[in-house]
Amino acid sequence: MSADSNHHPAPPSDGAGSALIFLGTGCSSMVPNMLCLLQPADPPCNVCFQALSVPPERNPNYRCNTSLLIDYCQNDGKHNYMLIDVGKTFRETVLRWFTFHKIPRIDSIILTHEHADAVLGLDDIRAVQPFSPTNDIDPTPIYLSRHSMDSIAEKFPYLVQKKLKKGQEIRRVAQMDWKIIGDDCNQPFYASGLKFIPLPVMHGEDYICLGFLFGENNKVAYISDVSRIPASTEYVISKSGAGQLDLLILDALYKTGSHNVHFCLPQALEVVKKLCPKQTLLIGMTHEFDYHKDNEYLMEWSRREGIPVQLARDGLRVPIDL
Ligand SMILES: [Zn+2]
Ligand SMILES: [Zn+2]
Repeated sequence: MSADSNHHPAPPSDGAGSALIFLGTGCSSMVPNMLCLLQPADPPCNVCFQALSVPPERNPNYRCNTSLLIDYCQNDGKHNYMLIDVGKTFRETVLRWFTFHKIPRIDSIILTHEHADAVLGLDDIRAVQPFSPTNDIDPTPIYLSRHSMDSIAEKFPYLVQKKLKKGQEIRRVAQMDWKIIGDDCNQPFYASGLKFIPLPVMHGEDYICLGFLFGENNKVAYISDVSRIPASTEYVISKSGAGQLDLLILDALYKTGSHNVHFCLPQALEVVKKLCPKQTLLIGMTHEFDYHKDNEYLMEWSRREGIPVQLARDGLRVPIDL
């Protein structure tokens, strides 16, 4: 398991073994930031301007909404594909990275929360489902909290509606099997054969977002949107709880300071020091982060602290035994 620091995408795998594929590693407004290109600062923002000359698949500073694909290879060699979050850039990431990494389908979906950058691509799920003009297909299981369910029922009533109203035409829409999960570390669930433990965290003091702990052989904690990790959740992913994490995937919005609804780099590194995972990859970054420059800084930090931390990038594939 290693994060390659080369900005050229790794060659597609031979299909053997489980892997995590970072579909998106950016914030809600994504990178490049549109305003940086429409109303350039003086001097202009290098990270955003790179997007005008370097194609996204070769540009580690091109960041879609944060989303992870778990390519789970079971003991019999069968692969299951689980998608965490379906944001505004879902279609773009499928076109760019599903094709590159040869991901043929989505077997189940898991949602961290119901913000736009995590759910607004749900309509496009129909485009990766088998075609049936009468919606006569197996629905895709989608795991989400009660709060997320209520919000999605308002945002996408047609995805939740069970029966047609009298006289209503059949229209092709994504078919989902909505499965409510508890926002509670003590209520694990299985998605496509893999066990997930919900990790409730504060995403602003008025909002609970879910992270997830998964993997039997290597333990992975995925926390994409967090401003504070409550003690009960921290225990579950601590050395005395789950045991040392093999991989922590953690939110870091800005490089300095703090933010009311997200971790920035200082808070993220504080958590890394506390939890001491074998490896950490940061996600959810704004245009403040420059992939190569800041990974160099993090390399030094890692050497000093003895804990490897790097920025993830869109398209990164991390082979890992789950
Ligand atoms: Zn910018
Ligand atoms: Zn959010």
